[in-house]
Amino acid sequence: MRSVRPAAPQLAGMEPYDPKYLPADALLSANESPWEVDEALRREIARAVEAVPLNRYPDPLANEVRDSLAQEFGLARDQVLVGNGGDELLFNVALAWGGPGRTFLNLPPTFSVYEANARLTGTTVVNVPRREDFSLDEQAVLARVSQGDVDCIILTSPNNPTGQCVPEEFVRELLDATDALVFVDEAYGEFSGRSVVPLLAEHRNLLVLRTFSKAYRLAGARMGYVLGDPEVIQELVKVRQPYSVDAVSQAIARVVCQNRASFADGIALTITERERVMRELAHIPGVEVFPSDANFVLVRMEGASGVWEDLYARGVLVRDFSRAPRLENCLRVSIGSPDENNRFLRALREVVEEGE
Ligand code: PMP
Repeated sequence: MRSVRPAAPQLAGMEPYDPKYLPADALLSANESPWEVDEALRREIARAVEAVPLNRYPDPLANEVRDSLAQEFGLARDQVLVGNGGDELLFNVALAWGGPGRTFLNLPPTFSVYEANARLTGTTVVNVPRREDFSLDEQAVLARVSQGDVDCIILTSPNNPTGQCVPEEFVRELLDATDALVFVDEAYGEFSGRSVVPLLAEHRNLLVLRTFSKAYRLAGARMGYVLGDPEVIQELVKVRQPYSVDAVSQAIARVVCQNRASFADGIALTITERERVMRELAHIPGVEVFPSDANFVLVRMEGASGVWEDLYARGVLVRDFSRAPRLENCLRVSIGSPDENNRFLRALREVVEEGE
């Protein structure tokens, strides 16, 4: 054959996800932890990985990791599911709660993967845009779900890329107002000090996503998890790939789970640094800073895509959102180590002074 028939129609015109990763001295574009896992823990991980039989399939459901997480949150094993990063679980929810004839309520600007997953699975996407300040239009969301056709809604708390948490009162109100699956994405939850996990006790339509990629420094190992009602989890088990969470990642996550407390200092330092970076940004002329509960901040300034280039020329990689809808002139900057943050602030001051 000298030709191939077209792929599924929903792929037409779709751009593959591109994290726009480039080499740089200060990597502040992907909201990763700036720090490696501590030396002693890395040694423990190395021992655990060495003991993994590579010729055998892994435990499909990673039950030891599930049990550690269940214990941590005071839940049962069947209320926890782990995935190949939070990304896999987001896709599983799109498979299980979406599909042709089903409706997903999206709250842009937010994480672009949600809408892409909905489109891939043939799910109808209904958008309720955020307000000018990126807070949720709560009344519009409630009005839309009251029509009764929404199957799934994702609340991102803190939201990526805008940075703020959803008020818990609103999550409660929404959970009471609809039987749609309310999926609260807390990928950055550890940096906000808040969580809706306690609401699981009263609400069967709540599902919460968390990840080891950010606060637990394991973006490279791919390990995320959801917490929810056993029946919801069981539906996700039906659509997941049996061995998506490999044995090496399971071994790594087991060690990290057992040592979660040791990550508290890094989380606290990120929060302190976030507050400092926001304070310093507020003093740079022409830079608007949005409040953040996460390990990144969103800034808006004239000529942001040129600023992105000038920062990159100074060795600082941030994420350019200036071409994304509603995010014109916006850059998202991850909170790095104190040195990286200083480097970013210094570079930005220089760029702004040069432009004056
Ligand atoms: N949710 C949000 C809002 C994110 O920003 C990310 C990471 N970009 C994820 C989920 C998934 O992260 P991971 O697959 O690394 O767990």
